[in-house]
Amino acid sequence: MSAPLESGVITAAYGRHYLIELENNGGLLQGFPRGKKNDAAVGDKVICERRSNNQGVILEILPRRNLLYRSDAFKSKYLAANLDQLLIVLATEPYFSEEMLGRALLAAQAHELTTLIVLNKTDLTTMLASARARLHLYQKLGFEVLEVSVHAQPQATHEHLASRLAGRATLLLGQSGMGKSSLVNLLVPEAQAATREISTALKTGKHTTTLTRLYRLPDGGALIDSPGFQEFGLHHLSEGMLERAFGEFQPFLAGCRFYNCRHLHEPGCAVLAALKRGEIAPARHSLYMQLLAEKEQ
Ligand code: GDP
Ligand code: ZN
Repeated sequence: MSAPLESGVITAAYGRHYLIELENNGGLLQGFPRGKKNDAAVGDKVICERRSNNQGVILEILPRRNLLYRSDAFKSKYLAANLDQLLIVLATEPYFSEEMLGRALLAAQAHELTTLIVLNKTDLTTMLASARARLHLYQKLGFEVLEVSVHAQPQATHEHLASRLAGRATLLLGQSGMGKSSLVNLLVPEAQAATREISTALKTGKHTTTLTRLYRLPDGGALIDSPGFQEFGLHHLSEGMLERAFGEFQPFLAGCRFYNCRHLHEPGCAVLAALKRGEIAPARHSLYMQLLAEKEQ
């Protein structure tokens, strides 16, 4: 006789070890995938079968709205599923990478996630003007930039962000040093304790840097953090998806002479013409070329 099936959400992943939060306050189960191909991701809705007090087997992963990949060589290539929003944490100091920012924005566009860019550490004023200047391009492209200081203005930061995070599943992204963990601790006061608990349950030891976590937010919604994660895998995006993910290329695409124009050096390319006129930023076209080249490798 088998146990009744239960449904839940994956709230932590460490390699192929998962934590499942069961529906209707049913508690937590350690989940194990059945078979080799059945990899789950944080945010997945799953059907599982309880095998003991605290363990269960994942029988089925319900259809995903989206699935994001990580590009680094950590244990799981999946990052998270069923997301609504991407929150990119930047800071005045240390210097943030525009390439990382550009790649993250693309992943978000390609997966139809809303994006919110946060510029943290506005209390460090030496580099504030230059950070603002570097972000101007992205504001012109239509991305919202929110200036905060987790340390100097925790309450205002909390207020500004809470309403934008409520009721949505938001993935956090940031290079190290930007203040991502400070922000998580501000928004989810019990985060550290919860992570210690999960590390024990999943036996991650000290390797919490590969532990992806979903935190429930007080106003509903979820914050997903994956310490150590800095870059999305974009290899699974087709050339068509890449091209469409550069929103500012859109008005020109129909103007290219060749229907299969790749906007690299084709004659009569309307994207290259716009680049020449200064209507497309050189940094964005370079990123596009770089991503195409990476796909070919
Ligand atoms: P993470 O590596 O992105 O998780 O960044 P942390 O949250 O560990 O923060 C990196 C450093 O920046 C720490 O020394 C924090 O105390 C500091 N920090 C975080 N937020 C702020 C801020 O708003 N202002 C200032 N001045 N420092 C901050
Ligand atoms: Zn073209």
